[in-house]
Amino acid sequence: MSTAVKITLGSPVTVLYGVGPEAGRKLARLEITSIYDLISYLPRRYNDWSDISRIDQCEEGKEISFLGTVTSAPVKKGFKKQSPVSFFVNDGTGRIELSYFNAPYIMNKFLVGDRIFVHGKVDYYGTRAQIVNPFCEKAETLGDVKLVRPVYRLTAGITSNMINKWALTALKLVKDQIPDIIPESLRNRENLCSVTEAYEWVHSPDTINHAAEGRRRIAYEELILLGIGMKYFMATGGPDEVAPVVVPSTALSPDAERRWKTVIGNLGFRLTGDQKKAIADIQHDLMNSKPMNRLVQGDVGSGKTAVAILTMAMTAIMGKQSVLLAPTSVLAKQHYDSAMKLLKDSGINVALLLGKTKASLKKEIKEQLREGEASVIIGTHAVLTDDVKYNDLSLVITDEQHRFGVKQREKLLISRDGTDGINAVHNLVMTATPIPRTLAMVIYGDMATSVIREKPAGRKEIKTHFLPYTDGDDIYNVLLAKLRKGEQAYIVCPRIDDDSEDLAADEYYFDDLFEDEEEKTDAVSVKAMKKRLDDHGISEKYESAVLYGSMKETAKLEVMERFLNGEIKVLISTTVIEVGVNNPNATMMVVMNAERFGLSTLHQLRGRIGRGDKQSYCVLCSDSKTELALSRMKLMCECSDGFELAGKDLELRGPGDFFGTRQHGIPTLRAANLFTDAPLAKTACDEVNKLFERGGAEAKTVMDNIERLFRLRFADKMGTL
Ligand code: ADP
Ligand code: MG
Repeated sequence: MSTAVKITLGSPVTVLYGVGPEAGRKLARLEITSIYDLISYLPRRYNDWSDISRIDQCEEGKEISFLGTVTSAPVKKGFKKQSPVSFFVNDGTGRIELSYFNAPYIMNKFLVGDRIFVHGKVDYYGTRAQIVNPFCEKAETLGDVKLVRPVYRLTAGITSNMINKWALTALKLVKDQIPDIIPESLRNRENLCSVTEAYEWVHSPDTINHAAEGRRRIAYEELILLGIGMKYFMATGGPDEVAPVVVPSTALSPDAERRWKTVIGNLGFRLTGDQKKAIADIQHDLMNSKPMNRLVQGDVGSGKTAVAILTMAMTAIMGKQSVLLAPTSVLAKQHYDSAMKLLKDSGINVALLLGKTKASLKKEIKEQLREGEASVIIGTHAVLTDDVKYNDLSLVITDEQHRFGVKQREKLLISRDGTDGINAVHNLVMTATPIPRTLAMVIYGDMATSVIREKPAGRKEIKTHFLPYTDGDDIYNVLLAKLRKGEQAYIVCPRIDDDSEDLAADEYYFDDLFEDEEEKTDAVSVKAMKKRLDDHGISEKYESAVLYGSMKETAKLEVMERFLNGEIKVLISTTVIEVGVNNPNATMMVVMNAERFGLSTLHQLRGRIGRGDKQSYCVLCSDSKTELALSRMKLMCECSDGFELAGKDLELRGPGDFFGTRQHGIPTLRAANLFTDAPLAKTACDEVNKLFERGGAEAKTVMDNIERLFRLRFADKMGTL
């Protein structure tokens, strides 16, 4: 007897026939794990084959569709096994030859006189037009064929056809289970189609308009899920939450004044106006018992670390503890070093807590935290483990928070004794990713923002160049020119060794281009690059070393330390150095196979240089010839402003990606465009909130359904990065 398992929206994709564990892993790279993920994974665009052209107007290299009559019987041309089967078709304006390789069945499929539909890419042999392996169907059976073909964003080993087939199968199984979370009032006003129609139309549209209608409805669904879901099921601050007042509204004591001056004196530079403004904003928030919920947004290199550490110093001087949370141990160590320098002679004790910290030392540090002996605590997620207890934790700063999941941040709503109301800490988040105001409202609720636009004085603009190859003397020459001056360099590669898969897979652009079976050359690996430097004799004179995520923590820290103190001249790494690393003497950034990284990642990488007063160069190497890749490289060369790039990236890539997982710790949106649809999100969420206020049966159902889908689509994925 077979035990039929009911397939639900929450079932893993691997329950589908034909989706094995291997395919499951690949789909996970596209953030598809559940059936709901699969059906809500929307095509990034469509190929419309329904637009009929004339044969006499076809152009070399262009894809066309036409209707014509078979004028010669399909025959094998030549006697070899691999010889193609060919025949001619005429549409009244001209004729074209169709050739099929590895498709002997074609000989029996079409007869002279058949009316057929053809779609394919035209090649010319002299004056003779030809299409190799076109899509072909008898006109009479064409009604069953969808001519609007979805194109999905892909990863290696997964094609658009696979996703489409699986999504449609899944949809058949669960279509009656997809709840409607859009209030009726909004549905009517916006004239939205039904849920089932929406999902059918996006995956299998009859016309492009259909697809757009479906997408429009799903966009509303997505925005409501995110906006309402974040507010109700991820709430991080309610009216009852109380945080300690850190900064007194009265004047500082002479002792506090003196210690603060010591810290400022240790800076070694003058704060920019924007840095001062951010610190003032924060101090103002810390004078209140309402928990601070503030975002400091500043482009790479704008000096966010100084703002963070000064804020921590202020908190420590007021006798309270603060935590600075960094996404990697390399970064935590770097922040620790900066803090040690800045807090010298101020009487403030700094502690560093990493996952790899030795057990005996960890025990000692935890003791210091519990007793309040250390007041500035810097670390990775190790500071979030349950057995770490604080004496008087008042402020938590999260650096480059997009690397953390919301779940981890939630953990920091630590309970403290002795206050009325729900105990909370002040919360400060630092990010280099520009987030439009309306968007921040949707994903963070009422978060205040301080923007650091001004760059520290004396910085030279980074010069960015593009090289259309990934190997060649030019690359080594520019590198050597910098090294000879005693400066240092980074080389970033998309994978670790020649056997490993690309690490940047989640950022790939091979989308539709890949569909056209564009030759995808192997990316240069970190280890291959190291060997090249060795072979060119560069390593002999200038020490080079590799760095990547899966190396031992101690090894990583050692390499970083030696790069920062100048022993290692060339650091060859994966994007592990993307975030936060600060070495002002590094003035050169070479990115291999640059087309494989998103613009935001490239901008972050470029932000590792140009941190001192020397002229810095960024060299992007790519042998990709695709139009998309080239236009992105051009953009990088022309534009150095993070905010502007974010907008341009969006235009090039289409909605959804820039503000994806890696940027904010929230999963990528698929139908909606957080950048441009933020006002729409507000309208939709207001409508739902109104419904909740009115109460009643619809409100209850909508609320339950939002919670369920929100958990499936977003919450369960947060914190797993
Ligand atoms: P990010 O905003 O990317 O985190 P950092 O905080 O790492 O940037 O700062 C980049 C570099 O600029 C560091 O070397 C830091 O010491 C330096 N810096 C920060 N603020 C100033 C300033 N006001 N004047 C000069 N240099 C500064
Ligand atoms: Mg930083």
